[in-house]
Amino acid sequence: MDAVVEMARNMHSQIVKWRRDLHRIPEVGLQLPHTSRYLTEQLNQWGLAVQTGIAESGLAVTVGGDADPGKTIAIRADMDGLPLQEQTGLEYASEHPGYMHACGHDAHMAMALGAARILSQLDSELAGGVKVIFQPAEEGPGGAEPMIAEGVLKDPDVDAIVALHIGAVSDEVANGEVGILPGSAMASSDSFSIRVQGKGGHGALPHTSVDPIAVSASVIQEIQSLISRELSPVRPGVLSVCQIQGGTANNIIPHEVEMKGTARFLHEQQRDKISRRLIELVEQLGKARGAEVTCEYNRGYPVLVNDPEFTDFFAGCAGEILGDDKVITLNEPIMGSEDMAYFLRCVPGTFFFLGGARIRDGEPIPHHHPKFDIDEEVLWLGTALLAATAFWWLQKS
Ligand SMILES: [Zn+2]
Ligand SMILES: [Zn+2]
Repeated sequence: MDAVVEMARNMHSQIVKWRRDLHRIPEVGLQLPHTSRYLTEQLNQWGLAVQTGIAESGLAVTVGGDADPGKTIAIRADMDGLPLQEQTGLEYASEHPGYMHACGHDAHMAMALGAARILSQLDSELAGGVKVIFQPAEEGPGGAEPMIAEGVLKDPDVDAIVALHIGAVSDEVANGEVGILPGSAMASSDSFSIRVQGKGGHGALPHTSVDPIAVSASVIQEIQSLISRELSPVRPGVLSVCQIQGGTANNIIPHEVEMKGTARFLHEQQRDKISRRLIELVEQLGKARGAEVTCEYNRGYPVLVNDPEFTDFFAGCAGEILGDDKVITLNEPIMGSEDMAYFLRCVPGTFFFLGGARIRDGEPIPHHHPKFDIDEEVLWLGTALLAATAFWWLQKS
């Protein structure tokens, strides 16, 4: 175990170089030809056979499992950047205008590469296989679900999975610390679109029309009662109408109004219930007011649920590497979402938070900001945590 950690420490400057190389070439969505080529070339250099083209640009590589077929654990890293013009002024800033690694996925790839390298060097000592998965499109439209559909968790079948997010995802985790949370850790992310059809007319003669703007006002008010009256107060959720469109002039009652919004939940049952009730409620409200109201509810990433037993095992590994005082069990879940959730629905595992944000004026620069940057000092630590967890988990399984 000390060997794994020591190897990661010695590899630090190499991990930094990979991260900077990848930082220069951000790409978005499912098609990441430069990123996927860069990773494939690195992995090939070490004699590893890379499975390419899973969900367009996704990759998978398996190390170990020859000497001892044992079980298989996966390490997952997301690959995509964001459509954002970088303003960091860094020497290794984005060379792709309008695109930037502003969430730290460049660092995730570099840390996973480091783990793949270490574990391939320890190949004969591995008590099973480690599948390293590089996944596109985390920021949208989602790469985990299609990768699973294309069989990335099969052959060899994956028994457990671990991944991380760097930066300042939780304000409870300082740089150099690790945040964990067993159970529901990140929210689901859905969208909805509500269409209110009334009957247009003259603004001075509302009695001759059905005013969709007045009905929309009721809808916006009433749907909050789903949160305050139909959701358990200790199982939070959010419904927000974020877009509303209707009307063309000050004296015309329009025929139609359209609203769009987002819905977030931390428990799948609550998500099912409120999404069903949202549709029922707005339809009924429309009927009561003589309008036709319809709601289209689109499910996005599910609730991210960390397996308690695996998370506990991971906490033990992290404690060995860092000291228990640096392993923080979060008091609050994260309302952001992650498509790692799909992997965690298929196999037990954990998604942990590695504190590593660039601090400016005492505050971390937020994710998705044009000046976002990470603290590179923690890169070796990320590699050590991933590699050691995989190594030790195989040993005990
Ligand atoms: Zn992000
Ligand atoms: Zn991210």
